[in-house]
Amino acid sequence: MGTPARFTGTVLTSGDAGFEDASRTWNACYASRPREVMVCHSTEAVADALQSVRERGVPFRVRSGGHSMAGLSSIEDGVIIDLGGLDSITLSEDGSLVTVGGGARLGDVYRELWKAGVTVPAGTCPRIGIGGHVLGGGMGVLSRSRGALVDHLAGLELVDADGRVRKVDEDEHPDLFWACRGGGGGSYGIATSYTLRTSPVSDVTIFTIGWSWERFGPAVKAWQSWLASAEDRINTFLSIFPRQQDLLVAFGVFDGPAAEFEELVRPLVAAAEPETQVIESVPFIQAIDTVEALQGEAAAADQVRAQGSSAIIAEPLNDEAIATLQEFLTDPPSHRGEVAVYGMGGAIGHRARTETAFVHRTGLMAFEYRTDWDLPEDDGKNLAWIKALRHAMAEHTTGAAYVNTIDLALENWLWAYYEENLPRLMEVKRRYDPGNVFHHPHSIPVSVTEEDIARHGIPEPVAAELSSAGLLKN
Ligand SMILES: Cc1cc2nc3c(=O)[nH]c(=O)nc-3n(C[C@H](O)[C@H](O)[C@H](O)COP(=O)(O)OP(=O)(O)OC[C@H]3O[C@@H](n4cnc5c(N)ncnc54)[C@H](O)[C@@H]3O)c2cc1C
Repeated sequence: MGTPARFTGTVLTSGDAGFEDASRTWNACYASRPREVMVCHSTEAVADALQSVRERGVPFRVRSGGHSMAGLSSIEDGVIIDLGGLDSITLSEDGSLVTVGGGARLGDVYRELWKAGVTVPAGTCPRIGIGGHVLGGGMGVLSRSRGALVDHLAGLELVDADGRVRKVDEDEHPDLFWACRGGGGGSYGIATSYTLRTSPVSDVTIFTIGWSWERFGPAVKAWQSWLASAEDRINTFLSIFPRQQDLLVAFGVFDGPAAEFEELVRPLVAAAEPETQVIESVPFIQAIDTVEALQGEAAAADQVRAQGSSAIIAEPLNDEAIATLQEFLTDPPSHRGEVAVYGMGGAIGHRARTETAFVHRTGLMAFEYRTDWDLPEDDGKNLAWIKALRHAMAEHTTGAAYVNTIDLALENWLWAYYEENLPRLMEVKRRYDPGNVFHHPHSIPVSVTEEDIARHGIPEPVAAELSSAGLLKN
């Protein structure tokens, strides 16, 4: 399989040193064996790689950090266009903007920005790639106090389906800019760099508050009602572990001084007396390390067998929903299962649902049902557990899901990820990639059928919008 003479990156094939590492995707359940990995170190190399795969007619996928939950940056017998060499992190002179290569890892971004006393609000796992993370929205450590990562995106550089390098921002291709703020990875082009607005950070207050299993109900209730009235500077998560781990832990980062937080946390502590409580003021970068440690071994591993799914919840859960969670966590197939709850609201909710493609502005919580295990023979029961948990909780959720927790078992993903933003996302797709060059099983389609509309549960007014925009295929 020939590659163009002008491709200036590195081509790795089976047998080459580095091929096995470069082929590896985080989730071993979706591991596949590519024919070739084209490692790019420049925008020009990315454009050449794209031209090469298009000329050769080989299937390809784009990879940044390889942390797609569903292995969507991997492809059997195709080509991976790997952005790992595009990992520069360049701050503007005054530190207010940072331009990050499309293949940089989040942890490197946090560390580099910390040196200048600034940051961006982003995910909890430093090993994820910025490439996929930004495009899906990006929620994490400082989202309630400072917003989703896409809210800080000033622009990006993107190689489009024709191999053109486009500058994308509010002034140039604003429609594409809108779609790249929440539309998910792998649909519109290859983002070779992102320019993000930073904000100053120094010390923050990190907290962990723990309960044992027997306090399950009171702890969940207390945390969610505390969250519902929490001020924006409180960034908080609730990790609910299986009975065997005997732990529920509320943790997070207060974007302010510890003395103030001690007052603000009183209602939570009073409502469900915890067994452990640590509140300390630390440099922000240390808080990132603590939050990473709380994510468990799977997040730090090079490769795991894992499954995740998500749901958006608008109101505190009722007793029935809490009982369902407890039942599923009583004896799950893997005792490393978890319901990880992201506290939403705060600055995430300061924008309208249609302002960017990231629609989840009105959620109170984002649930991530997740688990990991060791043996391939246990795949079936663990995948089934996640699916059954999602179904059992469905009536208590808004029906929406978060595209960064991509789940190939989600039946109605097209509606769940994007809701009312779907027609606009499809129009942008049709404008910039009418030939559907960039596609994977959950990418934005150029058209849908009546059958798709029924399967994804797309409501009538939105179906009518798709039809009048010519996005409905007979
Ligand atoms: C352990 C773990 C922890 C996580 N924690 C969080 C969290 O705290 N908050 C949160 O919001 N999300 C979190 N996520 C989800 C994460 O944001 C997504 O999985 C994200 O897509 C990962 O990006 P990546 O570049 O590492 O993945 P990849 O597998 O490289 O890519 C993911 C998708 O994006 C596409 N893509 C990648 N780079 C580009 C690019 N430059 N241009 C165009 N398309 C591209 C790929 O083709 C693929 O479809 C976590 C995931 C894991 C596995």
